[in-house]
Order: sequence, then structure tokens, then C-alpha cells
Amino acid sequence: MRPLPQPTALSRPFWDGCLDGRLLVQRCASCARCFFIPSAFCPHCLDTDYEWVESSGRGHVVTCTVVWRPPTPAFDPPYTVAVVRMEEGYDMFTNIVGAEPDAHLIGAAVRVRFHKESEDIALPFFELATATGRRP
Ligand SMILES: [Zn+2]
Repeated sequence: MRPLPQPTALSRPFWDGCLDGRLLVQRCASCARCFFIPSAFCPHCLDTDYEWVESSGRGHVVTCTVVWRPPTPAFDPPYTVAVVRMEEGYDMFTNIVGAEPDAHLIGAAVRVRFHKESEDIALPFFELATATGRRP
């Protein structure tokens, strides 16, 4: 079975949002920039005042690679790992699902999709936002 995250007090709002089908992100009250992964302070200006807001769940692929030999048998190859730049300007390290391993994904528009893995955890993955599954 795929290893699952262990939510902490800091990351609990993010994981609760995923279970609810909403991608939440922290937004700094001082500089208004969004940041991910969950942090006790803004990585841009170091302010500790932030709020959780709902992300559009849309972005584009900055970079990606296909894993053919996973680190453990818990992962089913091939699968695509990627950095997605969200519309709100923050980046997520994630998986792209539903795309062929040889698809040209850099620059492709993607949107979040949640996979419920257990009673407590839904993982946010991304799928191509275009109907053809290819970059326009
Ligand atoms: Zn800030």
C-alpha cells in the first residue's frame, strides 16, 4: 500500500480540505503571497500571520519526469511526478494522472483531482485540463 501522509497540527487544515474536495493553501496576511508546503511562517517575508484560503486547483506543469523504477513496490510504475505552478503563484510537487508516459507535459494546463486513499486521507493529484490530454 502507498505510504500515506501523517497530518500534523500545522498541515491538518490542508488534509481536511483534500478530504472535502477543496485544495486549501496558506496566504500571508502581510505580503498576500500563497505558499506551500504548510509552514508556520511565510517563506517570502517570514511573517507568522496567515490564513487558509481555497485555491482554484488550476495551474500548469513547470517540470516533470516519469518514474519507471519506484523506490518501493508500494508505487505502481510508470507514473509522472511534477512541479505544478498554481494560478495563485505557489508550486506543488505532485503526480500527474491520466497522461501517457511519453506525453509532452511541460507547460500543460492541469487541474487538481482528489484520490481518497483512506478514511482520513485524500491525496491531491493533477490531470490535464485539456480534453485531448495534450499540450495545445
Ligand atoms: Zn509574506
